[in-house]
This record gives sequence, structure tokens and C-alpha cells, in this order.
Amino acid sequence: MLMFDLTGRVALITGAASGIGAATARIFAEAGADVALAFYPPDGHDIRPVVAAVEAAGRRAITAPVDVSSTADVEGLVRAAENEFGAVHIVVANAGIARTVSLADLDDEAWNSVMEVDLHGAWRCFRAAIPSMQREKYGRLLATSSVAGTVSGWPEHSHYAAAKAGLVGLVKSLAVEFGGDGITANAVAPGVIRTPQSLDPVNSLGPAGVEAVAKKIPAGRVGEPCDIGYVYRFLASQEASYVNGQLLVVDGGRNLAGLD
Ligand code: NAD
Repeated sequence: MLMFDLTGRVALITGAASGIGAATARIFAEAGADVALAFYPPDGHDIRPVVAAVEAAGRRAITAPVDVSSTADVEGLVRAAENEFGAVHIVVANAGIARTVSLADLDDEAWNSVMEVDLHGAWRCFRAAIPSMQREKYGRLLATSSVAGTVSGWPEHSHYAAAKAGLVGLVKSLAVEFGGDGITANAVAPGVIRTPQSLDPVNSLGPAGVEAVAKKIPAGRVGEPCDIGYVYRFLASQEASYVNGQLLVVDGGRNLAGLD
């Protein structure tokens, strides 16, 4: 029997056109899942290569431009997935933005804009999909948190760190509230993963910063998007039914290695 098989499951993934979300979509399709892919902004990342990879794996994809700060957008994709595939079993609330802003410059708008996407976006996706999961007696609520805010800090990213820490409280509460319905809720805290976000020199490390960190990671390398996608495949599977309300740190051991 294939382990971590997702055949017959339907997964909704946000931030699916790039980085961790795109890798997760491909890995889920290879594991047998059909996928509802949210991309943003509408004229931003190209979702077509991800759809092609899903179809090459023999699975089906629907796509929609979804701003996770819009309840209407999120509920629209959940409805579309239910219409197309019959249900939503798995949500990977992965969309996120990082913005470098010192606390002195962090006005209400700057704070709220990150909260809306990184924390409230996950809450909206989970809220919209839980009724479908309850009907199916199978649900996997998965959130992309971060080492920032959970096991370490990140200067000039206090809003980001607070949002990512908030995801941990969110999944722990939902794990308890919905555990009796066959639903689990877990968060993954990636360390440095080579994606458009980490490679952004303004709002994150940039290429040079990523390479500098690589030297300090016990695994001897920076993470790749598939390193997180494979963890999500496990957490989405039947085999992970006893893992609930957890934060899984996936950082190649970086946070165990000290800071120098
Ligand atoms: P990425 O930039 O490729 O992915 C982020 C995705 O979020 C993009 O596809 C973007 O379109 C989407 N997005 C942004 N604003 C949105 C909105 N309003 N509505 C819907 N989607 C929106 O980078 P990534 O590293 O793959 O990021 C995925 C997640 O991983 C993010 O939540 C990020 O914070 C988290 N993360 C990344 C790292 C890393 O080192 N790359 C580390 C820890 C956590």
C-alpha cells in the first residue's frame, strides 16, 4: 500500500502559484489529490505551470485569483471546489507576505495588512472549509507559520512574527474544537526556504543573505519548497490522524545550532 496516499482527497492551497504552495500542489497531485489552487494577485504569478504539473500527475485542478483578505474570494473558491470535486478535505493556508518595517514606522495600516494575509487569511480559509470537512468526517487544516515568532524572533518583522505565532494558537484551538469530527489542525514552521519571499532583498534575506544562512544550517543547505511540501503530504494523510494541534519546525536544525 502506498503510504501518505491522498487519492480521493481534495486540497485547497493558497499562494499556490509560487514557492512552497506550488511545490505542495505538485506533491499532493502526485499523491493522488485533486486541487483547488488560489493565486494572487490576478496578474501576478503564473499558475499555469502548476496546473500543468497537476495534470501531468493525472489529477485535476481548478484555479481562482483569491485575495485571502477577502471573505468573498475565499468562500468563492471553497464553493467552486465543492461544485467541481464534491468536497474540500484539506486546506493548506500558505499565503503570506513579509514586510520589513521597524516598530517606529509600523502604523496601523502596515500592521493590519500583514495580519490580514498571514493570520486572518488562514482563519478565513479554515472557517469556509470546515463544514465540508465535517460532512466528510475528514479534515486537515494546515497553516504555514514560520520559525519567526515561534522559535525565534525577526527584527523589523514584529507584525509578521505575531501573525505567524497567532497561527499556532489558531490551529491548537481548532484541533480541540473539531478533533471529534475527524479533523486535525497543525502548523508548519519553515526555516529558510529558497522561494521568492526569502530571496526578496528588501523584505527578507535576499540571495546573499540566504547563502550566508546556509552555512549555519546543520543540514548543510537552505530548504527547498518541496521540503515543506512533503511534510504537508504527511500531515494531510490518513497516517497523520493522531497528529493534532502541533507546530512542526522544518528548518534543517537551524534553530538548534545557536545564532553564531
Ligand atoms: P512566495 O512569495 O513564493 O509565496 C507567498 C504566496 O502568497 C505567493 O504566491 C503570493 O501570491 C501569495 N499571497 C500574497 N498575498 C496574498 C493575498 N493577499 N492573498 C492570497 N495570496 C497572497 O514565498 P513562500 O516562501 O513560498 O511563502 C509561502 C509561505 O511560507 C508564506 O506564508 C511565508 O510567510 C511562509 N514562510 C516562508 C519562509 C521562507 O524562507 N521562504 C520561511 C517561513 C515561512
